[in-house]
Amino acid sequence: MIEEVLPGIFRVEVPLFNNPLQSVNSYIIKGRDRNLVVDTGMDREECAKALFAAFTELGIDMGETDFFITHLHVDHLELVFKIASGTSRVYFNNPDREILDDEGSWEEAIRCAAQNGFPTIELRKTLKIYANSIFKFINDVKFTILKEGDKINTGNHEFKCLETPGHTPGSMCLYEDRENFLFSGDHILQEVTPNISLLLERELNPLQSYLESLDKIAALNVDLILPGHRKAFRNPQQRIKEIKSHHRFREEEILAILNENAGDAYQTASRMGWDLPLAWQEFPVFQRWFATGEALAHLKYLESRNLVSRYEKGGKTIFTLT
Ligand SMILES: [Zn+2]
Repeated sequence: MIEEVLPGIFRVEVPLFNNPLQSVNSYIIKGRDRNLVVDTGMDREECAKALFAAFTELGIDMGETDFFITHLHVDHLELVFKIASGTSRVYFNNPDREILDDEGSWEEAIRCAAQNGFPTIELRKTLKIYANSIFKFINDVKFTILKEGDKINTGNHEFKCLETPGHTPGSMCLYEDRENFLFSGDHILQEVTPNISLLLERELNPLQSYLESLDKIAALNVDLILPGHRKAFRNPQQRIKEIKSHHRFREEEILAILNENAGDAYQTASRMGWDLPLAWQEFPVFQRWFATGEALAHLKYLESRNLVSRYEKGGKTIFTLT
């Protein structure tokens, strides 16, 4: 499905198989000399089919097209490895590139999970499949790294890069400050609350970073958000307030859980409320991993505010009320 969200800017709904998000948005900005595509989809046939149908319909030539990838998650990134041409620039950010480039990231993620009570046998198997699929391609594309304030000109638009760490360490938005719209990636979504997880030891306090990144967007004059999933929406201020109150709710929930029993992040996550209509033990391993990461991100944030403290027991980190 192609929707012209603004003159010359098209939203393509790229289907995601077996994924609760259902689809990811790829945006095509037609330029005079070169086009820009924001995010791409996974390296799967149905994603490639949807995107190529849009390229054909809009007359987009890969030889004249560059890519901007908002963050490292496969649903936004992976397909670019297959479709970028030899002359395509692929814009990306450094913190996320470092994670992808470092084959030790996977072991770091497993260590971090084990330290926080996660049973890692199944996780190791699943991450290995994921790592193999990403590392197949990682050397095929040379990224052009962007940082805060860098600009990309396409057609009549000038896009400014905004670093918005939180959802991933390198999450980056593109801001058109003369027309007041923002490609938000997964930093701000309308019907879904962006997942904020601590999955690697190197991520110190992602929730703190995320809340600061929300404030950064709230301070701008943005009328229209073009998000990574679902439809474009207006009034980001209202949405930012809702997302912040969701995290306050989570903090309260975790404090109430720890008030009953101290526990590791995995135990804490198992006692939190989740949208899946399944018992905790029946959650798919990735869902349980992200849920544990989300609990851990909140625990670290509460710890940084001296509401929660930690101790070590049997090689695991236990959190307790201060
Ligand atoms: Zn994401």
